[in-house]
Amino acid sequence: MASKTKRQLPLAERFNDDNIKVFALGGLDEVGKNMYVVECGDEIIVIDSGIMFPGTGYGVDYVIPDYTYLKNNEEKIIGLFITHGHEDHIGGIPYLLRRVKIPKVYASGIAVNLIRNKLSEFNNIPINLVEYNHNSVFDFKNFQISFFRTNHSIPDSFGIAIKTRLGYILHTGDFKFDFTPLFKHTEYAKLTSFSEKGVLCLLSDSTNANVSKFATSERKIGESIKSIFGQIKGRIIISTFASNVHRIQQIVEASIEHGRKIIVFGRSMEKTVNVSQQLNYIKAPPGTFITAKEFPHLPPEKITILSTG
Ligand SMILES: [Zn+2]
Repeated sequence: MASKTKRQLPLAERFNDDNIKVFALGGLDEVGKNMYVVECGDEIIVIDSGIMFPGTGYGVDYVIPDYTYLKNNEEKIIGLFITHGHEDHIGGIPYLLRRVKIPKVYASGIAVNLIRNKLSEFNNIPINLVEYNHNSVFDFKNFQISFFRTNHSIPDSFGIAIKTRLGYILHTGDFKFDFTPLFKHTEYAKLTSFSEKGVLCLLSDSTNANVSKFATSERKIGESIKSIFGQIKGRIIISTFASNVHRIQQIVEASIEHGRKIIVFGRSMEKTVNVSQQLNYIKAPPGTFITAKEFPHLPPEKITILSTG
């Protein structure tokens, strides 16, 4: 336990260089602008770089974290590690890179494509993007970084294991436990092995974590979508978050099963569908997706309109 004198010191002075600091620049008690910092000695790791969409606040497009601490300590930063490709985890990258020198950005799978897509909309922001997978290990002076696969509403979601001389700092990223996921399973064995080796600190992030029920498996939701599609005679207009790749794939499957063509509305939904098709996360035979021009030529019962929520 900290001594009384130590507790009275201002926050930043409580630590000396041997201590490990873990703090958030955004994302705690809010949905959006996720950004966490782990610091030890002369090394800083940044986890995620998100934006937040303001509920109200006319004229404000996005809210980003305050990057002052990172700017003031930029020579210590060894990398930005991205847990997954959602906007509240990658949306701030262009604004961060404009302001702060980040030597390497580590990301995996669909997040890599989404980050490249995002940066292509900005002018000349250099990025040194390193792609990791579930077996990657990166060694630094004070940290060893590895990854564990989790389940979330977008493929290639990972937790980050930061090995320090005092034990593991585990950052779960957004996750849910889904025992029948659409794609790959959570790496439960790895989670167990970390607990055996010794966890110094667990940072666990999950929307609705305070609700005491099990989250419904994505596969079960797919069955409901298919059954509802079977009961509808006319045109279907269905909305979901553009970032929910798994849900989009379920809607695509239900449409194919019921002989419907799909028209996608909304820029962010179009982007997600394109990137996910490139990586085969959204699978549909040629001709499943139609354009606005083809749309009037089909009867209502042959159409699904997929739009952002
Ligand atoms: Zn997420």
